[in-house]
Amino acid sequence: MIVKDRIESLRKELNEHNYNYYVLDNATISDYEFDIKLKELEKLEEENPEFFDPNSPTKRVGGEITKNFNTITHKNRMYSLDNSYSKEDLLDWEKRIQKNLGTTDIEYTCELKYDGASINLTYENGKFFSAVTRGDGFQGDEVTANIRTIKSIPLNLSDDFISNFEMRGEIILPLEGFHKMNEDRVANGEDPYRNPRNTASGSLKLQDSAEVAKRPLDCLLYQVVTNETKYKTHFESLNAARDCGFKVPKTITLAKSIDEVLEFVNHWDVERHNLPYETDGVVVKVNSLLQQEELGYTSKSPRWAIAYKFKAEQVTTILNEITYQVGRTGAITPVANLEPVHLAGTIVKRASLHNADQIEKLDVRIGDTVFVEKGGEIIPKIMGVDLSKRAEDSVETKYAEHCPVCNTPLVRTEGDAKHYCPNEFGCAPQITGKIQHYISRKAMDIDGLGSETVELLHKEGLIKNYADIYDLKVEQVVPLERMAEKSAKNMIEGISKSKEIPFEKVLFALGIRFVGETVAKKLAKHFTSIDNLSNASFEDLVAVDEIGDRIAQSVIDFLSDENNIEIIGRLKSYGVQLEVSQENLANQTNKLEGKVFVVSGVFHQMSRTELKKAIEDNGGKVSSSISKKTNFIVAGDNMGPSKLAKAETLGIPIVSEDDFIEMIK
Ligand code: AMP
Ligand code: ZN
Repeated sequence: MIVKDRIESLRKELNEHNYNYYVLDNATISDYEFDIKLKELEKLEEENPEFFDPNSPTKRVGGEITKNFNTITHKNRMYSLDNSYSKEDLLDWEKRIQKNLGTTDIEYTCELKYDGASINLTYENGKFFSAVTRGDGFQGDEVTANIRTIKSIPLNLSDDFISNFEMRGEIILPLEGFHKMNEDRVANGEDPYRNPRNTASGSLKLQDSAEVAKRPLDCLLYQVVTNETKYKTHFESLNAARDCGFKVPKTITLAKSIDEVLEFVNHWDVERHNLPYETDGVVVKVNSLLQQEELGYTSKSPRWAIAYKFKAEQVTTILNEITYQVGRTGAITPVANLEPVHLAGTIVKRASLHNADQIEKLDVRIGDTVFVEKGGEIIPKIMGVDLSKRAEDSVETKYAEHCPVCNTPLVRTEGDAKHYCPNEFGCAPQITGKIQHYISRKAMDIDGLGSETVELLHKEGLIKNYADIYDLKVEQVVPLERMAEKSAKNMIEGISKSKEIPFEKVLFALGIRFVGETVAKKLAKHFTSIDNLSNASFEDLVAVDEIGDRIAQSVIDFLSDENNIEIIGRLKSYGVQLEVSQENLANQTNKLEGKVFVVSGVFHQMSRTELKKAIEDNGGKVSSSISKKTNFIVAGDNMGPSKLAKAETLGIPIVSEDDFIEMIK
C-alpha cells in the first residue's frame, strides 16, 4: 500500500474509534491497540511531512503553544440568555411570544443548561477550522489549538450536513474527570480546583495545548447557526448535527406546550444529580426557526429562548468572622468567613454579604448559624440566619468604620449602598486595582502585563498610577522576581502598543466611577475628546441621552481632581489617545439621526456587524425586531419570509445594501 493511503486509512480509523469512544461512549478498540495505531500514524507523518494535516488524530495530543490569543469578531453575536425561576415566569414568557408571533401554535425544544464555557466552532469544507470563546459576545479569543485536543469534537464531518454554519456548544469538565484531576493535585501538594465550570473555562486559555489535552474536557453542542434553510426547526438541526458527528446530548426533548416544558424541568430537577456533568437549569427554545427569526433579539438575549434556573441548593454553617475587601474604586465589600461546608459540589469557605444594609437586614452576627446558597454567581450568598441556634450572648454586628488596609475612616454618601475608603491615591488595593482595570482586556488590553505583575511593580515602588507604567524601562523590570528579559521586553512593548487604543476605551480604562463600557462609548462619541469632556458642565452632561445625575457628577468629580488632571496630562504627553481619531470622526455623521433600522439577511460589501456599526456611527439606531417604530429595513440575501411579510403589512420601506451605502454617503 502506498504511504498516503496508509496514512489516510489510519486517520479515518482512529477518528472513528475516537468518535465511538468519546461521542457514543462505546469503545470499539482497546487502549493498547489504539496506541499502537496512533504511534504508527505519528511515525508515518513524521517521515512524510508532505501529508501534514492539522486535523489528524495525532494532533489531538496538542503541543502547540499560544502566547497571545487572537481576538476574533464573531460573525454572529453570541448572546446571553434571559432567566426564569418559576412556572409563572415561563407562562409570562409564553404569553409574550404568543403575542409577538400572533399565534398560540408554538413548539419548544428543551435542553439542559450545560455549565461550562461557551465556544463557537467553524468548519471549512467539512474540516474543523476554528474555535472562538464567547468573550464579550461581540468578540472572543481564538483557541483553536486547544479545542482541537478535545476528542469528542469532530475534526472531519460526514458530507450530508449543511456547508455554511457555525456550531455553538459548551466546553465542560465532567465530574468524574474533575474529581480525578483534584485527587492528583492534592496528591502533588497543590490546591484543588474550586469547581468544574471555572476549571473548564480556565483550560481554554492555557498556553500549552498539550496541557489542555491532558484535561478530560468534553464539548456538548446546542446550536447550529446558519442562513441556510435546509432545516426548519431547531430540534431537526440538532439531530442532523448529531448524525454528522457532533455530540448533541440525547436529553434534548420536544415539548408541545409549557406544561410539557415543566414536565422536563421537574424531571431534571431531580435527575440532574445522576448526570455525569453539572447543570444549573434548562434552556427552552422556540422550535421553529422561522418563528425564532421573527422574534429576534433584545439587546442582550434572544427573545426565542429562556433559561429556567433550578432552585439553588442551600446548606447551613457557622459564620466565623466578617472581613472587609477594598475594590479599585474604594468600595468596601464585607465577606463572611464560614466554617467550610460542602455545597453543590464544592467546598464553601466564604460568602458575600454585599453591604452594611444587607448585614443589618439579615442581622447576621459572628457565631450565627447561617443559610448559604449558591446561585449563578461563583461566590455563594448568605440567605438568612437560623435564629433558633443563636447564642444568648451574641452581639449585633458593627460595621467597619476604618479601611482594613490603610485605616482611613470610611465614608458613605446618601443613597449609596456601599461604604468607600476615600484614600484613593494612598490605599494599596485601590492603586493596584485601578491599574489592573486600566490594563484589562476590555480597557487598554495590554499584553504582557498581568494583575500579579502590577501588584509586584507597585510593591517595588515602580508604579503608583497608570501613567507610571509608560515610564517603565526594561532594566527596571528585569531584576524583579520571575521576570525574564524576554517577558520584560514583551511587557514594555505591550504598554507602548496601548497608545493606539481608541479614546472610548481609554475613557473606560480611566476607571471613573459609574462610567462603564457603554457609558464611555456614549461620552466619547458625544464629546470626542477629554478636553471637551473636562470642560462640560453638569447640564451639558445630563443633556446626553442616558447620562443621569449620578454619572454626570462622578465625571465632574473625577476630571476636576488635581491628581487625575496631572495623570491625564501625562497620558497625553505619552501619546495615549485622548480624543476620537480623525479617521473615526470622518465616518461619523448625524445623517440617520432618529431613524430606527432592522437589519436582516446576508450582505456582500460589509458584514452584518459593520453594517450595524455604520448605522450607529451615522446617528441611527439598530433594533432587532420589526415594529411600528421601525423606519427602514436593510435587507440582504435570504431575508426571512416572516420578516418580509411583517414589513409589508406595516408598510416599512425595505432598502438594499447599495441603497443603504448611498444613504450614508
Ligand atoms: P448566560 O451566560 O447565563 O446568559 O447563559 C447563556 C449561556 O448558557 C450561553 O452562552 C451558553 O454558554 C450556555 N448554555 C448552556 N447550555 C445551553 C443550551 N442548551 N443552549 C444555549 N445556551 C446554553
Ligand atoms: Zn483604604
